[in-house]
Amino acid sequence: MEDCIFCKFVSKEIPTEIIYENENVIAFKDINPKAKIHFLIIPKKHYETILDIDDENTMKDMFKAIKEIAKKYNMDEKGFRIINNCKEYGGQEVMHMHLHMLGGEKLSLNI
Ligand code: 5GP
Ligand code: ZN
Repeated sequence: MEDCIFCKFVSKEIPTEIIYENENVIAFKDINPKAKIHFLIIPKKHYETILDIDDENTMKDMFKAIKEIAKKYNMDEKGFRIINNCKEYGGQEVMHMHLHMLGGEKLSLNI
């Protein structure tokens, strides 16, 4: 997808530090972290929102990424939070589906 910054991270047209990768997914640090650890987990393929993902392998690999990143960054014992902002009411700003993974400390805001 042209003009999508997250697609440019996937294609490496814009360099970013990839902290995790599997077949269908990459993860990198959020540029404006809201917690000690704030990663964004994204499908390599451009899907605008969580509602658009129709590929089971991508769904599986998103969950695989959560588990493996939790282990790799020592968030499996104390825990973390996964957030998806979907469309206007959810406050989605980047229209390439992503999961926020927040951790590394006790999070203050609660849903
Ligand atoms: P949304 O509101 O769409 O769920 O969140 C978009 C997130 O992407 C925000 O937390 C924002 O800080 C992050 N973000 C926006 N542009 C960039 C960028 O160029 N690089 C990185 N690493 N994160 C970005
Ligand atoms: Zn994209």
